[in-house]
Amino acid sequence: MKVNYSYLPRQFANIDDLLENIKKFVKTGDFTLGKPLEDFEKKFARLMGSKFAIGVNSGTDAIKLSLKAFGIGRGDEVITAANTFVATVGAINELGAKPVFVDCDDTFCMNVDLVEKAITNKTKAIVPVHFTGYMANMKKINKIAKKNNLIVIEDACQSILASQDGKIAGTWGATGCFSLHPLKNLNVWSDGGVIITENAKLNSKLRLLRNHGLKNRNEIQIMGFNSRLDTIQAVVGNWLIPQTKKIADQRIKNAKYYDQSFSKVPQIRIPHRPKRMKIVYHLYVIFAEQRDKLLEYCHKKNIEAKIHYPIPLYQQEALKFLSYPKGSFPVTDYHSKNIITFPVDQHLTKDELNYVIKTVKEFYEKK
Ligand SMILES: *Cc1c(COP(=O)(O)O)cnc(C)c1O
Repeated sequence: MKVNYSYLPRQFANIDDLLENIKKFVKTGDFTLGKPLEDFEKKFARLMGSKFAIGVNSGTDAIKLSLKAFGIGRGDEVITAANTFVATVGAINELGAKPVFVDCDDTFCMNVDLVEKAITNKTKAIVPVHFTGYMANMKKINKIAKKNNLIVIEDACQSILASQDGKIAGTWGATGCFSLHPLKNLNVWSDGGVIITENAKLNSKLRLLRNHGLKNRNEIQIMGFNSRLDTIQAVVGNWLIPQTKKIADQRIKNAKYYDQSFSKVPQIRIPHRPKRMKIVYHLYVIFAEQRDKLLEYCHKKNIEAKIHYPIPLYQQEALKFLSYPKGSFPVTDYHSKNIITFPVDQHLTKDELNYVIKTVKEFYEKK
């Protein structure tokens, strides 16, 4: 048996109706912004229970434009999680602002007890990352932000439909940022992103920022970017968006199934699953003894397990300019050596899930 990480060929196996939609769309020639994008934004806002949704060309740009809308740039510091995907930091860096890291805890999100220590007189914003499908402790983050007069921009790229105390990821901050990248839970065929907000002024500004600052064809109100969500991808998004809740639910089911089986393996530690949180399992990550050998064994058995991530960001060549010495983020370091990610997508069969479980058990029994 082979258990692939990518489920894209399965997800887009039966798309005759989608191709028909694209055919119709192409004949309209409505290729920039346009009706399908407007429809997608409405549907996305409805899905999130938010007032406004703005389509942009990537999750990275969703974060970048959100920070830019608050004038964040050179000389400013932005606090984010040490164990995130590089895109979060890339967005901050593109604006000339300085990313400041805070270590995570075993929910893979920012340890909120460390945030206040990271605040300086240059700090302008906090970008909590809802990593793997968990959520950062937004109640506490918002409290800290309010007290210190900081903007909160949520990186919810991995956590579409996750929630905390019933309140959905992306609706806690000034904006919530999502990615439609092919390997995210709600995915299109190329890059794409969405920003959500409750604030009408912010909505207008973000719409200007994503489209060269153009107020209309002839008038440029502010300097912006070319960061529109591709309208063809909006057609794909409109086709897929009714499945979003099912996608999350199936991933949650798969994760529960894994949890039940892996909890009986003494060499595996399952991270805490707080009851007040809906975790949507963009990634299914657990702690494993002899992690590297287990990974190798899984690969030998044709299971595409992965590590998110084997080298912490702050130790990467490209981020040396931040001058963080080795050992600066001990929990992130520990994770990089002890976590493993198994496929958890909505298209996995029971047989495939069982094969992953059997293989892990087999590995430890052999020892
Ligand atoms: C995917 C991702 C992004 C950026 O998304 P893109 O659409 O690829 O630009 C940002 N942050 C996190 C945590 C992500 O996983």
